[in-house]
Amino acid sequence: MTDAHSPDNPLLTIEGLPPFDRIRAEHVEPAVRHILERTTSGIQTIEQILQDASPPTWENTIGALEELGRVWERSWSPVSHLLGVANSEELREAHESVLPDVVALGLRIRQSRPVYQALKAFRDGPDWDGLSETQQRIIDDRVRDAELAGIALSEDDQQRFNEIATRLSQLSTEFSNHVLDATKAWDLTLDDPTDVAEMPETLKQLASQSFNNQAQDQAGDGDPETGPWRFTLDVPSAMPFLQHCRNRDLRERLYLAYVTRASSAELDNAPLIDEILQLRRERAGLLGFTSFAEMSVVTKMADVPSVESMFQLLRDASWQAGLDDLEDLRSLATAHGQQQPLNHWDQAFWAERLREERFDMTDEQLRPYFPLERVLDGLFALVGRLFGISVEPADGEAPKWHADVRFFRVHDDNGAPIAAFYLDPYSRPENKRGGAWMDECLARRRVDAKLQLPVAHLICNGTPPVGTRPSLMTFREVETLFHEFGHGLQHMLTIVDYPDASGINGVEWDAVELPSQFMENWCYHRPTLLGIARHFETGEVLPEDLFEKLCRARTFRAGSLMLRQLNFGMVDMQLHHQYDPSGSETVRDVKQRIARLTSVLEPLPEDRSLCAFQHIFAGGYAAGYYSYKWAEVLSADAFSAFEDAGLDNEQAVSATGRKFRDTVLASGGGRHPMDVFRDFRGREPSPQPLLRHNGLVADPDTPAG
Ligand code: ZN
Repeated sequence: MTDAHSPDNPLLTIEGLPPFDRIRAEHVEPAVRHILERTTSGIQTIEQILQDASPPTWENTIGALEELGRVWERSWSPVSHLLGVANSEELREAHESVLPDVVALGLRIRQSRPVYQALKAFRDGPDWDGLSETQQRIIDDRVRDAELAGIALSEDDQQRFNEIATRLSQLSTEFSNHVLDATKAWDLTLDDPTDVAEMPETLKQLASQSFNNQAQDQAGDGDPETGPWRFTLDVPSAMPFLQHCRNRDLRERLYLAYVTRASSAELDNAPLIDEILQLRRERAGLLGFTSFAEMSVVTKMADVPSVESMFQLLRDASWQAGLDDLEDLRSLATAHGQQQPLNHWDQAFWAERLREERFDMTDEQLRPYFPLERVLDGLFALVGRLFGISVEPADGEAPKWHADVRFFRVHDDNGAPIAAFYLDPYSRPENKRGGAWMDECLARRRVDAKLQLPVAHLICNGTPPVGTRPSLMTFREVETLFHEFGHGLQHMLTIVDYPDASGINGVEWDAVELPSQFMENWCYHRPTLLGIARHFETGEVLPEDLFEKLCRARTFRAGSLMLRQLNFGMVDMQLHHQYDPSGSETVRDVKQRIARLTSVLEPLPEDRSLCAFQHIFAGGYAAGYYSYKWAEVLSADAFSAFEDAGLDNEQAVSATGRKFRDTVLASGGGRHPMDVFRDFRGREPSPQPLLRHNGLVADPDTPAG
């Protein structure tokens, strides 16, 4: 039917926006096969030229590789994108049929020995100094990534390296399977209505549905009001259960089951943890690093000592607040007649009661003040003031995958076009992934001496309009839109012309959330938020008390939450840095030692929650959990530059905004993020603004809102 070489295949276009309206599952295989072939012969040609002893130049190395990558941007990226926003059985099958070959070719290129050797020779050659800082960084990163993949090892070491990699990937799969099986193996079925009294309706519905699904063959005819109700260790069931179950013994049972998942019998993850840590250390050693953490941070902004000092400082500043939070819960529990001393399974419960008492507020109360159109207008006005750009709808100019999708163009203050973006605002459970994300559609790059402008995808999952009622957002959705737009700004306002480093590409992993979290801060800036939040029917501005509650809710139990995150981050760092598998301290000793530093309640001796810590043992966060806090430090400190300049001073705000644009947003991965941060802030990042925003240090100068 569709000839791969035919210009009719919408995945083989060579310019303009991808024709999303014409892409069908049947186009995927022919287009991708064609491009796989072209790229395979392309990399062979590049390797041949480099092996024929031609001196390496920018053009015959990175330039040629970039050119190879360009067709993927137009054929493969749209397919991945459509999987997220217009999924279908056919598209999934087509994607899976070519995926293994795509992955294999990607690896083959990244680990090409001739390319690696040419890049190294280039680095040592006479032309190196003629490259820009960004070009040098791109080459350094390619060399480093190939070395981290083991390219420079001796044959024996390489073999061991590959064995370790294979074993580690098995272990991480096993680890998460154990957690999954252990989670599934436990449940708690209740049929006494007093045990679920005052639980939210949504939780009772979930629990009733869970009972019915599980009891399908039996008399599974439960009702949300009369029971039975089944609770599990899945987070959406377990967390609200601990917050709302009034029966303390049941809370204790569920809590203990939760913190001992995958810690016994055939599902025990403890031996896996030992082996994983051992092997990671060995792998790092083969590459010449003293610890796995040292290896992990070479691709990141932070180094181990600065992470450790950040932990120390945040921990010390949060400890007293954590104790105060605990005291609040104790007195509330006592006032409500709890006789027993407060324990771990009481914290979420009383914290939720306290929240209700202090600032109960529902999404439904806030929604009418946040119609999507107004929120967008407010957001665009804000980025106009801050960065001197204008955002204009251009819906007619872009092919779309769904009628609700919007398209906008971004112009500079002199009217020149600089970027564009798609916004896919509403949820479509039938074929769109949940959550929100920003993705690259086209990167900024030079194509045949012409500049290709960056295009972003911004994907949200809001409530669609119903009848004459517009799409009304929750406050959390507003924050999320600002967050994703922040990522989008870094992609769109880049001035780097090399796709390896333009926009968010090449930005160190722990620095990538800086622009996104930075943008969230504006949701708590009084003039910005009150400028947006107006009732969609009456036009009434968001009542002052609701705004106050939003701001106070932001710092509710901030000390306790900080300590909890620090606990995860510190355990992760210690296990991947100081911990020595052949030393006298065990993994559990490390965990308990950190728990005593970060838990204001005496740690439970039976706690085995490390056995379910998937982020670091089965996900990508090993020696990287700290990056959550690191990014918050950066974004809060960046926002504080605006506070220092004076948030009410329009001129100062726009001058600071321009500086942010010219540094953080413009540089992308073209410069080391610490240098970029220094360019903007004039110094290294300070954790003080984050503490102040969290209400953790007294600062009489804190501006309201
Ligand atoms: Zn993000």
